[in-house]
Amino acid sequence: MYLVTKRIEFCYGHRLLDYDGVCKHPHGHNAVVEVDVRTDELDNRNMVADFADIKRLVKGWIDRELDHKMILREDDPLVAPLEALGEPVFKLDSNPTVERICKLIYDMARDQGLPVVAVRVWETPSSFAEYRA
Ligand SMILES: [Zn+2]
Repeated sequence: MYLVTKRIEFCYGHRLLDYDGVCKHPHGHNAVVEVDVRTDELDNRNMVADFADIKRLVKGWIDRELDHKMILREDDPLVAPLEALGEPVFKLDSNPTVERICKLIYDMARDQGLPVVAVRVWETPSSFAEYRA
C-alpha cells in the first residue's frame, strides 16, 4: 500500500464544558492537521492523490468552516452572545475536544471522496489526537 500525508495549519478557539481544568476557559490553538490518504495502487499519474487536491478539499473546508472561529458545543451559553455580536462560531453536538475535531475533519474528508485513513490534529507542539476508522 501507499500512503501520503498532507499537513494543514489553522487557528481556532474553543472551551470545554463539564470539565474541571484550565480548558474550561475560552482559549485558542494554532493547530496542525495531518491527513493520511492511503491506496493499494497508484493512479495513472503514479500518485495516491494529488497533494493539491487534498489541500483544495481539506484546507478549503477548514479555511471556510473552522479557521479563526470559536468551536463550541451547541448548548454552550457563549454561542448566543457571540452570534449576536456577529462572531463566527462552529457548533458541535458534543464537547469540542481535539479528538472530536479529528473526527469532524476525517468525516468531512471521507464525504469529499478522499480515501483518508487517519487524521491527526496537533493542538500544541507536544500533544495530538488521532482518529482512524
Ligand atoms: Zn484547547
